[in-house]
Amino acid sequence: MRIARVAHPAGVAFVTVEGEGEDLVAREVADHPFGEPTFTGKSWPWADIRPLAPILPSKVICIGRNYADHAREMGVEPPAEPVMFLKPSTSVIGPGAEIKLPRDSNRVDFEGELAAVIGRPCRDVPAAQARSVVLGYTVGNDVTARDQQKSDGQWSRAKSHDTFCPLGPWIDTSVDPADLAISTTLDGDTKQSSRTSFMMNDVYQLIEWASRVMTLLPGDVLLTGTPEGVGPMVAGQTVEVTVEGIGTLSNPATPR
Ligand code: MG
Repeated sequence: MRIARVAHPAGVAFVTVEGEGEDLVAREVADHPFGEPTFTGKSWPWADIRPLAPILPSKVICIGRNYADHAREMGVEPPAEPVMFLKPSTSVIGPGAEIKLPRDSNRVDFEGELAAVIGRPCRDVPAAQARSVVLGYTVGNDVTARDQQKSDGQWSRAKSHDTFCPLGPWIDTSVDPADLAISTTLDGDTKQSSRTSFMMNDVYQLIEWASRVMTLLPGDVLLTGTPEGVGPMVAGQTVEVTVEGIGTLSNPATPR
């Protein structure tokens, strides 16, 4: 099942996404998308809605340097344990929305990532049971002001600007995260191309790690790290992140 959040002619709703290709239909879900959905009976052709971020998380937990080749391209050895940081809920935007490049940064990078969406409140989840706390998976872009990340000595400012967490286009509840192709293009040129099987800590290990620190709430998002090939984008360019079995997240970069 694919779950999206959309603006439709009369408001905003969670929907399931039915069909394939050009013939997608958004079918309105009553209330929230956790658990077995109930439907209102309303539906719209995909062309008549605008997709929004598929979830509004209370927090976005991010893992840095989870692909060895990306750690090396940043000039550091792969860490012995996951490196965890947060992005604020206010950084989240949806598919097609503009990534606003801050005036006080000279280098803003894309980082294509697999994003896990939590499905129920949980804490201290063993990796062996982590699958049961996941609602599904979407595509994320951990946009980073690389110059601020280097100059500040910690990552909060660099990772937290408004619009720095594109998510979408929807949450797929059935995909297996173990070995999915993940790629990023900039204006159509491939910049990142890897597989989720190259993660040093897999999604379930990361959930164990994160839930040892903080309670995870329904809708919280875990960004699982980016593979090698990160690089800068400038105003006027469009970045697209694709994860096999989920879809493509496309966002243009514009000046703030
Ligand atoms: Mg990242």
